[in-house]
Amino acid sequence: MNYLSTRDNHLRMTAAQAISKGLAPDGGLMTPQVMPRLAGNALESLKDMSYQQRAVYVLAGFLEGFSSSELTAYARAAYGGGKFSHLDVAPVRAVDENTHCMELWHGPTCAFKDMALQMLPHLFSASLVKNDEKKTVCILVATSGDTGKAALEGFKDVSKTKILVFYPKDGVSDIQQLQMVTQEGSNVGVCAVVGNFDDAQTGVKKLFSNEELAQQLAERGYFLSSANSINWGRVLPQIIYYISAYCDLRKQGAIEQGQEINVCVPTGNFGNILAAYYARMMGVPIKTLICASNENNVLTDFIRTGVYDRNRPFHNTLSPSMDILISSNLERLLFELSGRDDQQVASYMEQLAQEGRYEVSPAIKTKLQQAFAAGYCDDAQTKETIAKVWKEHNYLIDPHTAVAFHVLEEYRKETGDETVTVVVSTASPFKFCSSVLEALGEHEFAPGTEILDQLSRLTGVEVPKPLASLKDKQVRFDTVTEKEGMLDQVLEYLR
Ligand SMILES: *Cc1c(COP(=O)(O)O)cnc(C)c1O
Repeated sequence: MNYLSTRDNHLRMTAAQAISKGLAPDGGLMTPQVMPRLAGNALESLKDMSYQQRAVYVLAGFLEGFSSSELTAYARAAYGGGKFSHLDVAPVRAVDENTHCMELWHGPTCAFKDMALQMLPHLFSASLVKNDEKKTVCILVATSGDTGKAALEGFKDVSKTKILVFYPKDGVSDIQQLQMVTQEGSNVGVCAVVGNFDDAQTGVKKLFSNEELAQQLAERGYFLSSANSINWGRVLPQIIYYISAYCDLRKQGAIEQGQEINVCVPTGNFGNILAAYYARMMGVPIKTLICASNENNVLTDFIRTGVYDRNRPFHNTLSPSMDILISSNLERLLFELSGRDDQQVASYMEQLAQEGRYEVSPAIKTKLQQAFAAGYCDDAQTKETIAKVWKEHNYLIDPHTAVAFHVLEEYRKETGDETVTVVVSTASPFKFCSSVLEALGEHEFAPGTEILDQLSRLTGVEVPKPLASLKDKQVRFDTVTEKEGMLDQVLEYLR
């Protein structure tokens, strides 16, 4: 199967090209030419398999040119061998009768980005070999916190790759920052940017489209690529866990064969919930996709009105990985909802770039609202929800997950829809200790990494190992740049 661009239906790339390029030359996003459908009995047979086996099954449907022994090796390397602290990799845990929480943070960086970024480097380096690429790739990442660390962990010491991460100086938590600036590995770089996530992301996009830079780097034996969630190799591994969650619910006897479920996803760049939409297209019985936002609620308005309008104040919230006003992966959804109309998508994206706003056609709006519901949650509600879920269920959740729990509760009140729902939990509460402690009524915080022990003592929940070990790590990176200086940082790094 080949890949095409959301802005050009006629463009063709192989899977290996789509993954190593990251973005189409026209600025569109690479998307499978056809969406594979699950065979009739697939969910029932996958139900008795391991996460790694489920992964191989799903990946194989999308990755022509990758052998099943290759995929098996990657699944083992990414999700086996103690990389994840839970044998189920993405365990689904019952919260109450019709609410189940899928925990996507048992990986090496304690956030859901590991689910894709432990797999992507394997797909990436294999793709370079398949494309007969002689140059070394430099992965450029703009991160709102979790992606950066997860990408650094995934790519560290992978041959023929380098990675440089830009994070917004005041847009990540202390623990997130410490995770990044202490990163080990011989092929890694980390740099703070003055500004917010959109500044860092826009800066990185500019670097990608800078042809002079590309030329200069080629002479030095490098080319740039992306590990951001617009890369197909990021979206694809995320489809696996939605299929896996359905299998686990079946296995636990929580649903009957073929029974419909809802999913509720804390959303920023729209990558995670897009993967759920693809799982639904493939045949997983998902009725409604509930898109949960924080106060940066551009997606809530979009799903309710059909108008995407980024002209609004930007809020720094307690769920910083969702502090985003341009959800890049939405472009892939528009492509599907428009019946794969590349010109229409290109026109919306042009309007977004020029005016920061577009309104979808009535036909697209109807389809959008058939599949999606949306809501948002402010910081006060986020804290209340953390406290409430802890008190009622003795279950400790992070602020991003709390946004989803709150939005689900509101959705149920509004609609009366009591369908069994998988709430996606995207980070360990220990990545956001001060917010969680405050939600639980604490007002004084222990300094540095001692705050991890403070939260653990208060709740009796163990600190995840990768965070506990931060204490003993050296700070390796302290560079800060204005956004205008990002170009020089790249040139310096790839000297
Ligand atoms: C990245 C992230 C999100 C948002 O996911 P998208 O795919 O960008 O929508 C939510 N929660 C956490 C903890 C994250 O790291």
